[in-house]
Amino acid sequence: MYNFSAGPAQLPKEILNKAKEDLLDWHGSGMSVMEMPFTSDEYKAISERAHNDLRKLINLPDDYHILFLQGGAYAHFALVAMNLLGQKQTADYIQTGHWSTRALNEARRYGDINIAASSVSSGFNRIPPYEQWQLNPEAAYCHITTNETANGVQFHDIPKLPIPLVADVTSDFLTRQLDVSQFGLIYASAQKNIGPTGLTIVIIHNTLLNQAMEMVPTVFNYGRQASNNGRVNTPPTYSVYIAGLMFSWLLEQGGIKAIEQANQHKAQRLYEFIDNNSFYQCSVDPSARSIVNVCFELTDMSRTEDFLSEASKKGFVNLKGHGIRGGVRVSLYNAMPIEGVDALVAFMKTYSASQSQTRLKKSFHG
Ligand SMILES: *Cc1c(COP(=O)(O)O)cnc(C)c1O
Repeated sequence: MYNFSAGPAQLPKEILNKAKEDLLDWHGSGMSVMEMPFTSDEYKAISERAHNDLRKLINLPDDYHILFLQGGAYAHFALVAMNLLGQKQTADYIQTGHWSTRALNEARRYGDINIAASSVSSGFNRIPPYEQWQLNPEAAYCHITTNETANGVQFHDIPKLPIPLVADVTSDFLTRQLDVSQFGLIYASAQKNIGPTGLTIVIIHNTLLNQAMEMVPTVFNYGRQASNNGRVNTPPTYSVYIAGLMFSWLLEQGGIKAIEQANQHKAQRLYEFIDNNSFYQCSVDPSARSIVNVCFELTDMSRTEDFLSEASKKGFVNLKGHGIRGGVRVSLYNAMPIEGVDALVAFMKTYSASQSQTRLKKSFHG
């Protein structure tokens, strides 16, 4: 069975087995990680190791804080605005699909939000070229969504901006190299690619910590959390523990550079097959195709449901496209092996051949 879910998504088997091993008794402590006080030495060790491994993985400069918070990316659409708008009260957003639209609509409740560039008119099938962005030099920050999970669109070049760049990296964090020093803040829900739901990672530069609106709840005040080591309230301890297993698994795989190569290879194989088989088509511009969420259609869209149901019978599950877009979505996060892609491509080939034959037969018999 291959699980192509966009999130919550599959985790490497090694991690699930490790969690199973530790479930009732973590390292001879006699406790499950779920049962430990978050102030205990045991949990502190788990949390510190996760912080340090993540720092190492992404080569994080010392002047950034890593916060393990809750709420999910959707909550942080609002919280980013509440924490960063400050005196300027205005921010720029780049609209590239479903999630960046959600982000800017939430932010609008708290300030003056300017859509500096949008690809809505082309059906969100590309990233607006940087030369066309109409940035406001007075904006507190510029927000992008590095990978549009529902649209299959991804930034392949991160521009250098004169104002702090903020990014929702929920669906491609740790799947490719990212120079965090180009950003003022990045945030990600864990359940796409890092661990179980419940954990939201926020990485923030020191200079942005202390401009939160008075009304921000204390537990979501990035500055307050940073000065209390993320322990203002109970952190999502079990999710942090699994994320920590993921960070050390990634280090064992050779780090992000090695993982990125593998991910590119997987995506390339699938896009190449789609582009060379007229039964399928991908409408995303090649310059902006996501390496982690491959979205495509059957040329004869009326076959989509049958395709999905046949795929599922063969063990290829969770391939249905996001509701706003329909079609097929293949999520290829870090835990998906190349064998899964090869098997899916083989299925797609067989399926298209059998359908063309049925069609030939139908036309032969009138
Ligand atoms: C899934 C997703 C979200 C929403 O995450 P929640 O945890 O449901 O809040 C936001 N942004 C992107 C890019 C996503 O893929």
